[in-house]
Amino acid sequence: MVGPYPFYEDGYKLAEAPHLGMEHQSAVAYGNKYQNGYLGMDLSGTGRGLLWDFIIVHESGHEWFGNSITTADIADMWVHEGITQYTEVIYTECQQGKEAAEEYVIGLRDKIGNRSPVIGPYGVNQEGNGDMYPKGANLMHMIRHIIGDSTFKAMLLEMNRRFYHKVVTSAEIEEFMVNFNVRTGLLDRSVFDQYLRTTQIPVLEWGIRKGTLWTRWTNCVPDLMLPVILNQKGEFPVLMLATSNWGAFPYADKKQPRLEADRNWYIESKPLSKRELRRRKPHIGRGTPLF
Ligand SMILES: [Zn+2]
Repeated sequence: MVGPYPFYEDGYKLAEAPHLGMEHQSAVAYGNKYQNGYLGMDLSGTGRGLLWDFIIVHESGHEWFGNSITTADIADMWVHEGITQYTEVIYTECQQGKEAAEEYVIGLRDKIGNRSPVIGPYGVNQEGNGDMYPKGANLMHMIRHIIGDSTFKAMLLEMNRRFYHKVVTSAEIEEFMVNFNVRTGLLDRSVFDQYLRTTQIPVLEWGIRKGTLWTRWTNCVPDLMLPVILNQKGEFPVLMLATSNWGAFPYADKKQPRLEADRNWYIESKPLSKRELRRRKPHIGRGTPLF
């Protein structure tokens, strides 16, 4: 999923340590008391993290994200911690299946405080907010659902080839991910600004009126472009290329269907009644995307 082990010549060791644990190239410091979970607890609160040893899985993930691909400034450390936390999700999926992995990463959201941005100030040796772990993992999970499983897997493999044993910035990694997906154009730069450089969680406003499904993002960076899947019972899901401007999608108005934003997106959803929608006066004008 993430490519060959990056320190083959050095080998791989677990070294017993008096503290909980720490990533070190080819020798993970281990002090999780030989139990599953994080000192016997599950950070996700779902029980999914109790079937594997957190320190072994997490610190080993750092061999790829942190030790092989290393950020120049610790302000960008989400690249180490967020993507490594996502390797826990991948591990959970391999061990317990897709549903379990989704529960694990969604459960981690309870640990996100959104008090200050994930990326810290540059040049002053200061990490960003501790949200870099669960919020970074949830960002990666959402990206996976935007670009699809096979592209996501290919992207992680190529990331580890391209940046093998290299020092990087978050901006370089973001640019790489956006460009990797250039053919579909579904992953926009604004998504990284939204989740790494602000503390706002975008709110999807949506409603149906006169045969049209309207969507837009609020509580977000200007020009946010974040595609989102709306699921509906017994019907095909709808992929909305939602932006911070109103977008319109032809939609049968007859029965008010129960649409629900897909749970794999770390967002808030605000369904609007016909009246609320009318008050917001969405209209098809220049630049309104029609799907
Ligand atoms: Zn870590």
